Amino acid sequence: MANVGFIGLGNMGGPMAANLVKGGHQVKVFDLAEVALQAAKDAGCSVASSANEAAQGVDFVITMLPADKHVESVYLGDKGLIHELPSSTLVIDCSTISAETARKVGQTLAAEGISFIDAPVSGGVGGAKAGTLTFICGGDTAAVDRARDVLQHMGKNIFRAGDTGAGQVAKICNNMLLSVLMVGTSEALQLGIAHGLDPKVLSEIMSKSSGSNWTLDVYNPCPGVMDNVPSSNGYQGGFLVDLMSKDLGLAQQAALASGAATPMGGLTHNLYRSWSQLGHGREDFSSIFNFVKANKK
Ligand code: NAD
Repeated sequence: MANVGFIGLGNMGGPMAANLVKGGHQVKVFDLAEVALQAAKDAGCSVASSANEAAQGVDFVITMLPADKHVESVYLGDKGLIHELPSSTLVIDCSTISAETARKVGQTLAAEGISFIDAPVSGGVGGAKAGTLTFICGGDTAAVDRARDVLQHMGKNIFRAGDTGAGQVAKICNNMLLSVLMVGTSEALQLGIAHGLDPKVLSEIMSKSSGSNWTLDVYNPCPGVMDNVPSSNGYQGGFLVDLMSKDLGLAQQAALASGAATPMGGLTHNLYRSWSQLGHGREDFSSIFNFVKANKK
């Protein structure tokens, strides 16, 4: 049993903290939103009045925050945790942020003797609730091994991608590929539909052919083809277009920094940004299916 400080209790962080309690850990939480704190209290967490209070006297600090600026300010800001944490604490940041910021936070904490790993996740809100997330870690092997004590109660797979920042790189590579597959699957289904094919039949054919992929087989973007996926629920309750758009922006930033060629990633970034600007940012990312709908001649 460990003492854990958990900061950021949104769609992902809330259920993750609840699973730590179920795993037998003592969890002290903080979020800016009162409603998130109340839900965590109901799940058995103790509520702190600031991030610093949540991080006091704990073995692990876990953050699950929206983006770079939030992570940087919680750790390195004027009142940041860096000024408070003892060197015995292991910091685990599960937010999806740039590898650059992860390295900056990790190196600045390391200069004060505090260990840090980046541990972004895959598996969405469903995986956070079920405790089946995949953690994609960056940091030294000893720190990642130490983190397994708590990560195993929130996820099923724990990978070490490499040194600090490597978890974030692997995460955006995965999401860039996912977006390309989602757009391609949507286009293929819409083309078939435009020619009078039944999307269920077409999906089955492609699933058993060389076009088979995760977005077609288990997360089909066409409403009515599958039960229990966002497309059959008005594109609610999945991974937001705005979050995919953010991750694709991080992928493009990483591509520019390294000179990697990512033409498909660049295209899907623009498609998701445009789809968001048309008012679909709060829908699941499979709603891009409607963006590539055929115009009837
Ligand atoms: P969210 O917006 O639901 O939750 C973020 C929480 O952080 C909010 O409750 C907010 O009040 C809190 N917060 C912001 N600044 C804070 C601060 N300074 N101190 C304390 N609390 C603060 O976001 P989410 O969907 O939980 O996503 C969190 C991270 O996980 C993001 O980086 C996202 O890209 C990543 N992620 C999300 C999913 C998904 O399906 N939602 C999947 C994988 C990864």
